[in-house]
Amino acid sequence: IRANFSIILGENEKTTGFITVISDVTEQEKVERERKEFVSNVSHELRTPLTTMRSYLEALSDGAWKDNEIAPKFLEVTQNETERMIRLVNDLLQLSKMDNKDYTLYKERVNFISYFHHIIDRFEMNKPEDIVLDRQLPKNDVFVWLDKDKMTQVLDNIISNAMKYSPEGGTITFHLKKEKQKLLISVSDEGMGISHEKLDKVFDRFYRADKARSRKLGGTGLGLAIAKELVEAHEGKIWAKSKEGKGTTILFTLPLIQKKRRGVS
Ligand code: ADP
Repeated sequence: IRANFSIILGENEKTTGFITVISDVTEQEKVERERKEFVSNVSHELRTPLTTMRSYLEALSDGAWKDNEIAPKFLEVTQNETERMIRLVNDLLQLSKMDNKDYTLYKERVNFISYFHHIIDRFEMNKPEDIVLDRQLPKNDVFVWLDKDKMTQVLDNIISNAMKYSPEGGTITFHLKKEKQKLLISVSDEGMGISHEKLDKVFDRFYRADKARSRKLGGTGLGLAIAKELVEAHEGKIWAKSKEGKGTTILFTLPLIQKKRRGVS
């Protein structure tokens, strides 16, 4: 808190009053600190793939390109790093659009059950063989207002994390529960979990519970931050539960479209 104290002088230099301005600078400072941290994070995130690529390209131009075995491997590394940078920049652009409220949700009335099945089907086709997808979804239709593209992104981010952090032979469970005014959606895995004190932070930009592992798996550290923004734009909430060594559950809510009651005018 900053306090400015002024004395008001009237004619004859006589004190006629006092003004005290007390302003809360902690919020301003916090915003400024977060902005600096963000710029530093972005720079770091971009520098890492770039320096990796530079050294592989140097090795290639120093003669590794002639080696039939090494050259394709080195090229693959540079390709992967390029892909990661593209993902990162796309994620950043999206977050920046959301920060500037420079986007529109195209919401439509969607039966979440069939929509969710469709999303899981896509993963079913591309998953490692030993991972099991378990759908605990009700049979009756459940309607919500959704921007399908944006919600697909939310689910893609959550489910691909569940896949990335699943152990061999792990099961990923999809759950849907109708509550009074909202729908509760959850995705659980049997992976390494997230420790209690890190649970809320995983929704922060660039936060990674396990840096080395996230990088190795090609993560940008922005997936859950984007999911959070998009769920909140749908007037929902998102959070995580976890038992270390046992698994993680990501949960979120969406407001339900209430059925019209008949006979009530
Ligand atoms: P990343 O691209 O690193 O996966 P996210 O924003 O998607 O970034 O997730 C942030 C961090 O949260 C991850 O780096 C990881 O440490 C942790 N995390 C997310 N989902 C899971 C999960 N299902 N199991 C364990 N840790 C997870």
